[in-house]
Amino acid sequence: MKKRKVVVGNVEIGGAAPISIQSMTNTDTCDIAATVDQINELAMAGCDIVRLGIFDKNAAMAVKDIKKQTMVPLVADIHFDYRLALLCMENGIDKVRINPGNIGSMENVRKVADMAKACHVPIRIGVNSGSLEQELLRKYGSPCAEAMAESALCHAKMLEDCGFYDIVLSLKSSNVREMVKAYELINEMCEYPLHVGVTEAGTYHMGMIKSAMGIGSLLMRDIGNTIRVSLTENPVEEIRVAKDILKVLGLRSGGGEVISCPSCGRCRISLIEIAKEVEKRVKDVKADMKVAVMGCAVNGPGEAREADIGMAGGDKEALIFKKGEILRKVPQEIVVNELMKEIEKLAREEEI
Ligand code: SF4
Repeated sequence: MKKRKVVVGNVEIGGAAPISIQSMTNTDTCDIAATVDQINELAMAGCDIVRLGIFDKNAAMAVKDIKKQTMVPLVADIHFDYRLALLCMENGIDKVRINPGNIGSMENVRKVADMAKACHVPIRIGVNSGSLEQELLRKYGSPCAEAMAESALCHAKMLEDCGFYDIVLSLKSSNVREMVKAYELINEMCEYPLHVGVTEAGTYHMGMIKSAMGIGSLLMRDIGNTIRVSLTENPVEEIRVAKDILKVLGLRSGGGEVISCPSCGRCRISLIEIAKEVEKRVKDVKADMKVAVMGCAVNGPGEAREADIGMAGGDKEALIFKKGEILRKVPQEIVVNELMKEIEKLAREEEI
C-alpha cells in the first residue's frame, strides 16, 4: 500500500523518498561530547537518522546541546514517561519514538500529540513482540504477527483520535519469520510508513544474517521505508550492513562492491587474503563501482565481465583487468596495491 510521507529534520520517510538508514547511539546521552562524536561518526558512515536513548530528564535536557552540534536528524527513544517526550520536543528533537498506550491517560497522549503537531515532529510507534499488551497475549495465546499488527493499530488509533497522523510504525521481533509476517500484514492495513528491522538480532554474524533475511525479503517486495540493522556491535557496523543490504537490492548506489569467487583447485594465489584486503581498502571508495577478485585467469575475467575493475589469479601472479579487458600482469605480492591504483584512477575519472 502507498505510504504517507513524514519529514524528520531534513530526511523524508515514506512517499517517494529513498529508503533511509537509521541507527542508535550507545553512548550515555548525557555525555554530550561522546554522543555528538558518535552521531557524526554514524553520519560519516552513511546513517541518515540517529536515535538517542532518553531515559531521564537529564538525557532529555542534553538534546538541546546535542542538537546545536549536529545537523543529523535525531530521534528520542522514550518509554513510559510522556514528560520526557515534551521536553525533548521543547529542546528541538526531530522525531519521537513512544508508544501512546504506554504513557498513561489519554490526556497525556493528547499533550504529546498536540506538541508534536505544533513542532512538526513525527512519532514512531515501536511495537516489539517481547512487550505486547497482556490482553493481546490472552487473545492470541502468544506473541504473533497478528497481535503485533493489532497492537500497532491500537496505539496509532490513540494518536488519530487526537488528530495526529505523522506516524511511523515498526513491528519488530527477533523471530525473522514472525517479523516478516507482521510487516506484511500491517503493510496492507494502513498508509503509515514502516520502519523495518529485526530486534535483538544478535552479534555481528547472526545479526547480519537475520537482518539481511528479514529486512531484505521485505524490501524486495517494496515493504519498508526506513531500516535499522540491530547488532550487538559498534553501531557503525550496523550502517555498513544496512548500506550493503540496500546496495545488493539496487536501492542505494555509491561505494565499491567486491565480487569474489570462492576459489577452487585451479587457484594458485592467496585469494582469501587478497579478497579480504581489497574489501577492506575498497570500503572508503565513494564512487559507484564493482571490483572483481577472481582466483584464476581461465574463468576470472569472463566471469567478472560485469565488474568495472578486477584481478584474476595466475601462478603466484595476477592479471589486472578493466571491464573484462586485460591491462597488465603483476606479481602476487603487489596485486592489491596495483589493483587499488586502478580503482583510485577509475574513481577520479568518475568524479570528473
Ligand atoms: S574463478 Fe577460477 S579459481 Fe575461482 S572458482 Fe572459478 S575456476 Fe575456480
